[in-house]
Amino acid sequence: MPIYNETTLAKELIRFPSITPIDAGVMKFLSKKLTAIGFKCKILEFKDKNSKPVKNLYARLGNSRPNFMFAGHLDVVPPGNLKDWTTKPFNPVIKKDHLIGRGANDMKGAIASWVVAVNNFLSNNDKIKGSISLLITGDEEGVAINGTKKVVDYLKKKKEKINFCLVGEPTNPNKLGEMIKIGRRGSLNAELTVIGTQGHVAYPHRANNPSTTMIKILNKINKIKFDKGTKNFQPTNLEITKIDIDNTADNIIPGIAKATFNIRFNNKHSSFSLKNRLNKIFKKVTKKNKSNFKINYRISGEAFLTKPNETTYMIQNIIKKITKIKPQLSTTGGTSDARFIRKIAPCLEFGLVGKTMHKIDEAVSISDLKKLTKIYYNILENYFK
Ligand SMILES: [Zn+2]
Repeated sequence: MPIYNETTLAKELIRFPSITPIDAGVMKFLSKKLTAIGFKCKILEFKDKNSKPVKNLYARLGNSRPNFMFAGHLDVVPPGNLKDWTTKPFNPVIKKDHLIGRGANDMKGAIASWVVAVNNFLSNNDKIKGSISLLITGDEEGVAINGTKKVVDYLKKKKEKINFCLVGEPTNPNKLGEMIKIGRRGSLNAELTVIGTQGHVAYPHRANNPSTTMIKILNKINKIKFDKGTKNFQPTNLEITKIDIDNTADNIIPGIAKATFNIRFNNKHSSFSLKNRLNKIFKKVTKKNKSNFKINYRISGEAFLTKPNETTYMIQNIIKKITKIKPQLSTTGGTSDARFIRKIAPCLEFGLVGKTMHKIDEAVSISDLKKLTKIYYNILENYFK
């Protein structure tokens, strides 16, 4: 089964409607391609009581060290209104040197570039000093319960050593070459409930209005200056995302007030230190107002940074040589599966341009795809030199 070029392979991958968490056969297809060029593939299906089963793939070529891993996902977000697309989202077409289709840049295109780069690298080198591996998940765009997180646990249990991981998510805002991600901020979601005492608005002394307490709390946490940012990170930021004081009557003081907020935090904090700080405020204010509170936290990921090293600079130089742009080493944006992988390997992220990801008519420039293959090829060549 030959591997032609990145555009053809990207098209083949896009044709599978792998809307998260559905696999639609794409994992098996990719694993056949990889087996044909010498990889040992293992499809790992994970399930959970409260979530749908998800297929993931771990593929490795070679047994020796170092083991260089590429990580990505083959699931995509739903296409939205089909009528708004100029083409069918899972029937990719090329228009004006752009490949249009769901997943074109997030991130079937980058996976195609990586596989073609590996294929070319193997044809030019019959023996490599080390191993190349791939971790491909089908649960990145969804709840991320049965995806990379569980594959990482599996690899840990199998004592599989990963020496470096390149995540192929779209990292460039506008142009290929602009940005490498060397870490990510952490994300903490909190759902706060303040419990007061319901009563008649005309008799406030017989009630305890939780909205008053909630306003005081929100005002306090909204004003916190967590830090000024660091050399590598933006300042930590809290955003109130929902305030909910349900009440069906005008003459009632409500009994309960709810609010949710999200904190994107840098590596000066941990979810533990933030929770402690916030809990102190909740306790103090509710005590003063003779009310109670309940708090629910959900941590999407801790902040992390892969300190720039030789490999980082090698990759930065290759990108600069091929794109004529010196990529910035950044930690901006949302979370990615690197938050799980960094527990077993240093991670760096570089992929396509994210401008049209998750949008109608998601598209990738054919010339970017070719350049990305070249970048990935050069990374392999330099890493195994
Ligand atoms: Zn993605």
